[in-house]
Amino acid sequence: MTAPILVVGEVQAGHLTSPTLECITVGQHLAAGQAPVIGFVAGSSARSVADEFSHVGVARVVVVTDATLDTALVAATAHAVAAAAERVGADTVLVGGTTFGRELVGRLAIRWNASAASSVTEVRKEGDALHVRRPIFGGRATETRRLDGPRFVLALRPHTFPVPPDAAVPSNIEEVPLPSLPPGLLVARRTALEPTSEGVGPSLGDASIVVSGGRGVRTAENFHLVEELAAALGAAVGASRAVTDAGWRPSSFQVGQTGRSVSPQLYIAVGISGAIQHLVGMLSSRVIVAINSDASAPIFRVADYGIVGDLFQILPALTAEIRRVRGL
Ligand SMILES: Cc1cc2nc3c(=O)[nH]c(=O)nc-3n(C[C@H](O)[C@H](O)[C@H](O)COP(=O)(O)OP(=O)(O)OC[C@H]3O[C@@H](n4cnc5c(N)ncnc54)[C@H](O)[C@@H]3O)c2cc1C
Repeated sequence: MTAPILVVGEVQAGHLTSPTLECITVGQHLAAGQAPVIGFVAGSSARSVADEFSHVGVARVVVVTDATLDTALVAATAHAVAAAAERVGADTVLVGGTTFGRELVGRLAIRWNASAASSVTEVRKEGDALHVRRPIFGGRATETRRLDGPRFVLALRPHTFPVPPDAAVPSNIEEVPLPSLPPGLLVARRTALEPTSEGVGPSLGDASIVVSGGRGVRTAENFHLVEELAAALGAAVGASRAVTDAGWRPSSFQVGQTGRSVSPQLYIAVGISGAIQHLVGMLSSRVIVAINSDASAPIFRVADYGIVGDLFQILPALTAEIRRVRGL
């Protein structure tokens, strides 16, 4: 495998996302200095993001500055990515395993006739094949899968790989036109985009620390205890379904089977029993901490660290100590 590796950039609030940067690290590892890692970014903000891309260790950046892709289906972006991969002669495309990335992988694999895997947490080359590992069944098992070439598309699980250091010298940026899109890809367009209410702090899907509260907090008014701990840690706030069903916080906070899936470095579950429907949304977190007054609560079976006790005593003390240590 000496062909270039293409990393698809995802943009949020005008910047490359952290999962995109993690893809560059994996691309460099797979290329092992034998092939270039090339960035790709598309959309109306692509040109300004390309500058950022050019500083994070890619050999060059391919840009499609066309607003059509801002509102088109992900299938249209897959079309543009496939064209870019062809153009640079890539054999592997990497994308962060966000909602966008997971959707892109399937579309691109079919369009580009490639072997594909999503939620990848480990990848290694063996001859012309790639061996990937990824959590399945909501994190209750880990699958190893062999992918045969000659083409590969991988969505990498966010917060799993390090981000690369900044490059001393920026790489070149090459602007290319949007390839003509089959009309079928433009029949559905996004007409509005309204961010969901996630409260203050980082967004649940991107955060490297998540603090979630459950029914154990008892009332909507008490939920500020969870939010204050999250704020002290610079974490996103999540909730169990018991909380969102009760209307204590919006459904956009819900983690689990019918809510969001998160895989942060640290997940703190406060007053959450650990029902399977909650666990499937957070089991792949790197470190799980549970705070619960019931020592037999199922959450302790999956927790790396557990505190058995009353959250109304523990949270204020923990928050105060974290604030003190962090000088807040
Ligand atoms: C089809 C389906 C889909 C579902 N999807 C989801 C989903 O996406 N996400 C989700 O979360 N749930 C989901 N559920 C609901 C799930 O089964 C549980 O009912 C829910 O997760 C329970 O939420 P909880 O842990 O906050 O509440 P409980 O199960 O009531 O647990 C509250 C916990 O708080 C502890 N506690 C109480 N007081 C204190 C205190 N003072 N200090 C410390 N701890 C205390 C208790 O010991 C207990 O363990 C789904 C259910 C179904 C049927």
